[in-house]
Amino acid sequence: MAEGKARRMWALPGAVFVVPRSALMVGGSDEIVEVPVPSFLIEHPRGLVLYDTGSHPKVAEDVAAYWGEMFRNMVRFSRDLTVDNQIKALGYKLTDVKWVVMSHMHMDHTGGLFMFPHAKLLTMKGELSYAYWPAPDRRNIFLIDDLLPTRNYQWMELEGEFDMFGDGSLTLLHTPGHTPGSTSMVVRLPHQNIVLAGDAVHMRDALDSEHTMSVDTDPQQAVASIRRLKAMRDLQGMRVWVSHDPSDWAEMGPAPRAIE
Ligand SMILES: [Zn+2]
Repeated sequence: MAEGKARRMWALPGAVFVVPRSALMVGGSDEIVEVPVPSFLIEHPRGLVLYDTGSHPKVAEDVAAYWGEMFRNMVRFSRDLTVDNQIKALGYKLTDVKWVVMSHMHMDHTGGLFMFPHAKLLTMKGELSYAYWPAPDRRNIFLIDDLLPTRNYQWMELEGEFDMFGDGSLTLLHTPGHTPGSTSMVVRLPHQNIVLAGDAVHMRDALDSEHTMSVDTDPQQAVASIRRLKAMRDLQGMRVWVSHDPSDWAEMGPAPRAIE
């Protein structure tokens, strides 16, 4: 097995949702939690890889105007937290990011896509077509305004499991259910291996309880993906970082602290 490693990773802060746990997990309580919406920047010997792009700068200006009235009191965000400013704060240029891997195409993750016309954008089979034409009751969470500007960008749709650089350092996993092409990523770092779950699971508790999320496109697939991540944790000893989980965020985030 290839033994390549990424050099380090930063968890970039983004918007924060202030919502009850039940919004993130079927069976969750009414307790109000602050939910991070991170992106992850990974330094690999071949260049920078970004996992997710956070929310659009317009969300920082007027969330109700860009995302809709129901989000007015649900989101905290400011311009210093958009992904471009977070990358610059670490001393990089946007053009240093050569690859963008999308966990999925919900609008809390797609807002920075337009900033990467020079990069290769990676997703899994089925995600792009679904994001452009979702089921009617899902159209409020896939934002066509985020996607259309990227129509001629360098998109690549992959299938199954994909060793991104062929060195074992970054492996994309198809973990469908939340959306058709949901993608988790195994990051091998010098001192630890971390699975970025993306939104394949929404709370650390849900890994144990196997609870899905209310807007999953296919709950049965979602449970299978949660079980796969749980097995990676329990059998392979991997740390699973659930993007929206407040405890994972508190323990491992945020930049400028580098994770190695
Ligand atoms: Zn999300």
